[in-house]
Amino acid sequence: MEGRIQAVRGMKDILPGEVETWQAVEALARKILEIYGFSEIRIPLLERTELFARSIGEATDIVEKEMYTFRDRSDISVTLRPEATAGILRAYIQHGLYRTQPFQKFYCIGPMFRYERPQKGRYRQFHQIDAEILGSPDPRCDAELLAMLRTLFEGMGLRELDFQINSLGCRSCRPSFKEAILSFLRDRETRLCEDCRRRLQINPLRIFDCKVPQCQENLRGAPQTLEHLCGPCRDHLESLERHLNSLEIPYTVNSLIVRGLDYYTRTIFEVISSDLGAQNAVCGGGRYDNLIEELGGPDMPAIGFAIGEERLVSLLLEGGRQRSRPPLDLFVVAVDARAESEAFLWLDRARRLGLRAETDLRGGSLKSQLRRAHKLSARRVLILGERELHQRRALLKAMDSGEQEEVPLDRLEAQMAEWVQGLREEK
Ligand code: AMP
Repeated sequence: MEGRIQAVRGMKDILPGEVETWQAVEALARKILEIYGFSEIRIPLLERTELFARSIGEATDIVEKEMYTFRDRSDISVTLRPEATAGILRAYIQHGLYRTQPFQKFYCIGPMFRYERPQKGRYRQFHQIDAEILGSPDPRCDAELLAMLRTLFEGMGLRELDFQINSLGCRSCRPSFKEAILSFLRDRETRLCEDCRRRLQINPLRIFDCKVPQCQENLRGAPQTLEHLCGPCRDHLESLERHLNSLEIPYTVNSLIVRGLDYYTRTIFEVISSDLGAQNAVCGGGRYDNLIEELGGPDMPAIGFAIGEERLVSLLLEGGRQRSRPPLDLFVVAVDARAESEAFLWLDRARRLGLRAETDLRGGSLKSQLRRAHKLSARRVLILGERELHQRRALLKAMDSGEQEEVPLDRLEAQMAEWVQGLREEK
């Protein structure tokens, strides 16, 4: 016999037991995103490789080392999406969405793929909740995204998160920062790793992402973006800070964050948790005021973020905030084979009315069926046997009190409708 096939390394199954927490996270995220005015957009998992190379940047770790890229049967180079922003912008430009409504807010929830070294909080298939505001340079957009994140995290009961912001400047002030970095690193160049020496030529900012300790060492005392911001970029950051203060969103300015993608301009931010270990960012985002134009669209500023769902769920699980399946409303027992068909009918009626109802499709003894009802934490059990059917009655047992009553079958549907009403009121 051949060996069992395992999942691909870095790709995780989300099994029942854990998936309920994912569902709750996504349901709350959707609710809050809609409250804040975002519309869902669904984009393909696969895009032309060029889209990511041009947007994320040739010198980034993602494009250099981490993309799942292959040629399809038409010999076109395609890539499994490593992030959502590029695809959303491609769709926005391709469908001319900016013509009818230049200002748009989108969200997208789904899997991303990066060939990274797997470890806790880092996978090769992972999931993001992504939000983008397209079409305005106003710092209120930046503040709105952070405010929405606060609402979302608070809604999940997560309070100990650190919002860190920074500004990377714009086309007019970034060159002076790059120049300063280059001159700072000029006599340290030989002590940088090979990758960083190459990055120095293409995009020196990327050296800040390098994990090699010696490179980090050599960056100590390096110039900071904040020292090189032009007037408008400084004003933008100050205005964002004023809004965050007035919304009472705690934050810190951390001039060391640069984010791993090339397209960012001005505001960038991360949401950090000290409970996550080495991979401590739950969310990352920033402005990309030139990217839409660089991808062939109109000259339009924008900003977005992506939350890492694995890390968010792990915070919830570790904080004892996991969700489980709600208990069953009804378990239907057929005492013997002759009652099966009638029991099956009532099971379906119950479900059509909206009750979470189950039976044991394997049949089995009354005792084993009741055991299963217990295991599934059913609130009520409906027992149908030949005798009950003969009398057009069913036996109804409340599992918490153990109370039993006989219900005439011609009243059962009305009774089920009452339970449904009761459930609605409970919510
Ligand atoms: P990025 O798209 O790199 O800005 O990342 C945004 C967020 O996605 C991060 O803060 C993480 O929470 C999450 N994330 C990024 N890469 C991974 C990965 N390989 N595995 C799990 N989560 C990830």
